[in-house]
Amino acid sequence: MSDSYDSKDLSWGEEALCAQPAHSDMREKMFSTDPEDKHEAKNLCFTCDVRDECLRYALENNIIWGIWGGKDKDELRRALSLSSEGKEIRRNRAPQCPRCSARTSRLHTKIKDLPNGGRWTTARMVECRECGFEWRSRTSANAVDAYHTARAEKRAKRQRDREKLIAKGKALRATASPGSQK
Ligand code: SF4
Ligand SMILES: [Zn+2]
Repeated sequence: MSDSYDSKDLSWGEEALCAQPAHSDMREKMFSTDPEDKHEAKNLCFTCDVRDECLRYALENNIIWGIWGGKDKDELRRALSLSSEGKEIRRNRAPQCPRCSARTSRLHTKIKDLPNGGRWTTARMVECRECGFEWRSRTSANAVDAYHTARAEKRAKRQRDREKLIAKGKALRATASPGSQK
């Protein structure tokens, strides 16, 4: 993947399978609540050449309705760490990779150059180290950073507790040794 990122490139839309006349019946199914329709729509996405671009577009535009890139609204919300009302959830709802379902520990944030971003010169991206998928989202990035910060804090606390136990053990041994009782 390159070190710069073009958020304005929408040329992938021309290859969208659901936009081809042969699949015109699928447009409605993309937004249906019927489980069978959803299943059919998702199956079409899995044969679409621009699935990654479509999924990335939905994530980058906070779209949490319909099926995009083979993912439904609940899966999109999860990746974006958004509640059903579209509100940001930073903690306790860490996203999985929306493409390969890798765990949050495999997701990391990074900064990329944004040549066509107008007043923004860089983009904060989330990258999956399992499948290489990456997307630009403030809410996903916040949730992923919060997850790693919480993990680092837990690790540091465990280390402090361990050091305290070792120090306590040493003090007890020193008290119990014959020389210390004189
Ligand atoms: S991935 Fe699915 S929703 Fe997206 S363009 Fe392809 S067929 Fe349409
Ligand atoms: Zn992934």
